[in-house]
Amino acid sequence: MEFPPDQSNGTEPSERRRVGLVYDERMCKHSTPKGEIHPENPDRIRSIWNKLTSAGIHQRCVIFDAKEVEDKYIAAVHTNNHINLIKTISSEKMASKRNRVAARYNSIHFNEGSSESAYLAAGSVLEAAKKVAKGELNSAFAIVRPPGHHAEESEPMGFCLFNNVAIATCFLLNQKELGINKILIVDWDVHHGNGTQKMFWKDSRVLFFSVHRHEYGSFYPTGDDGSHIMIGEGAGAGYNINVPWENGQCGDADYIAVWDHILIPVAREFNPDIIIISAGFDAAIGDPLGGCRITPHGYSILLKKLMKFSGGKIIMALEGGYNLNSLANSAAACVEMLLEDKPIAESVEVYPFESTWRVIKAVREELSAFWPILADKLPEELTTKVTLQLQYYSSQSEDEYDDGPNSGDLEEDVTIPLSKLNLSEDVDGADKVTTATSSQAWRSELSKIHVWYASFGSNMSESRFLCYIQGGQAEGMKRPCRGSVDKTKPTEVMWKTVPHRLFFGRESTVTWGPGGVAFLNPEINNQEKTFMCLYRITLEQFNDVLLQENVRTDTSSPFFDLNALDSIEYEKNISLEALKDGWYHNVVYLGKENDLPILTMTCTHAHVEGFKSGKIPICAPAKGYADTLVRGLVQGKQLSEDEAVAYIQEAATKPL
Ligand SMILES: [Zn+2]
Repeated sequence: MEFPPDQSNGTEPSERRRVGLVYDERMCKHSTPKGEIHPENPDRIRSIWNKLTSAGIHQRCVIFDAKEVEDKYIAAVHTNNHINLIKTISSEKMASKRNRVAARYNSIHFNEGSSESAYLAAGSVLEAAKKVAKGELNSAFAIVRPPGHHAEESEPMGFCLFNNVAIATCFLLNQKELGINKILIVDWDVHHGNGTQKMFWKDSRVLFFSVHRHEYGSFYPTGDDGSHIMIGEGAGAGYNINVPWENGQCGDADYIAVWDHILIPVAREFNPDIIIISAGFDAAIGDPLGGCRITPHGYSILLKKLMKFSGGKIIMALEGGYNLNSLANSAAACVEMLLEDKPIAESVEVYPFESTWRVIKAVREELSAFWPILADKLPEELTTKVTLQLQYYSSQSEDEYDDGPNSGDLEEDVTIPLSKLNLSEDVDGADKVTTATSSQAWRSELSKIHVWYASFGSNMSESRFLCYIQGGQAEGMKRPCRGSVDKTKPTEVMWKTVPHRLFFGRESTVTWGPGGVAFLNPEINNQEKTFMCLYRITLEQFNDVLLQENVRTDTSSPFFDLNALDSIEYEKNISLEALKDGWYHNVVYLGKENDLPILTMTCTHAHVEGFKSGKIPICAPAKGYADTLVRGLVQGKQLSEDEAVAYIQEAATKPL
């Protein structure tokens, strides 16, 4: 199916802002050779287009046709050999060699539709750029694939065939009549834009800015290219800015801090004639490759902050983004911002990671010789926040309890790194997508088994519990959770009381700050009645909750497997050796409901003795934490607010 021509007839675009959109179903033709599952698949652009049309957003935009790029424009950034490769790779005569050729490159696949898709993707970004530069449009969003920013001068790489953004950038600079002399490229894809960086390395007309996961060179694309000391060379020195994250999980607050303290001050100085965004959405919350957590609202803030430059002339070109929902919602939020320039409310509740400030300072120091504004001291107010965070984390790392959990701010990802995905070709040419997830084979088995996870603590509040499943941060929490690999919400929720004692102990946690947290005495006591909120989840998700409750990250094997599930009905509780440093490593069996076992996680009998003797402190919960429990009980319709407060109060004060 081809996309019908110009649909702007009859739908008047906004008087104030003309926002262009380009999408063409022919860009879905590029795929893995036999349609094997791959994160960079045709559904990515379809999901964006469907979202824009179903929400009626496209009607407010100017829709223009995709167009294949001409070779002479590609030649400004790619070698002739590279152009010939992409031009011919989908031809009949290449059919037998195609997979072998792809295997020569890093994370590349080809099929009979690749050439056409690649020419359309580059051509569409170029058309968008031309229309915005000419003033026919205020801004534009090019919904294209394959993406481009990893593609280098003479080789395709990382799902990218032609470097779409670089081709459009050179086109604008070379068409003198357009009057475009300075271009800012903002690459907010979660991966470093290695290809684009190299193409403008010595060019002061192009300010290339990339913020990406780097982890000291271990994140895709691995190596030093994405380091903050890579600032350009010759005339281009200072015109290449890399902001390399030290860890995953970065979200709105981290990105906004980088905008406010690096990108925006530099953009003001540079004063670009036009801005092109390498708009990958794989740093979006829930992305399986990115492991970061920008919300759609966060993306719209980042975009809005750029709209005050270059008279609002912005071209957004899609790069990565592999969670279809997140991708579509983020893209839609950006198009709406381009259309309306809505006022934004920035949340002051969440703070950047301490590592974010470290990175910001390092980047500012590296570039201050070129951009004197970066030599200014960071505002006092922020430095205070920095200090607070540093103190906060350092007090955690010097945990008084040798059995306390580690600070979890540098959690390893449970997601698949891009570098681990590749197409391997076997002898008869049949390609398979292989991933490095064989060590996680346990997941599919345990995903078929359901259990009740029973919570007596903050997880009684559903919005808080969902952070363990879907990731994120609920009210009162000091840091976000990364969520489970399977983000499906619980299929059922129910309440129950159990004959066990609820109490509060330990003095502080990474998630809640100072104050005690809830424990359930694993011992049955018929005098006691503790409210439990039961969530029906899979055994795979239960393991991910266990991991997060115990501030652990290694997911190579399940901690609570099928054998444990078989024996717990008789053993009643199982202390998990592999998690023994965590506070909640004892899984307790609380009976059955609808024939499924009810499991909770708490401290061990030995720890209860420690609490009783005073070796481990008993400590009342802080207000924010207690409020979360009260909220859970009230929203779950178990108790009135007064009753819930009294219930917590009693558990916190009654001697153990
Ligand atoms: Zn990416």
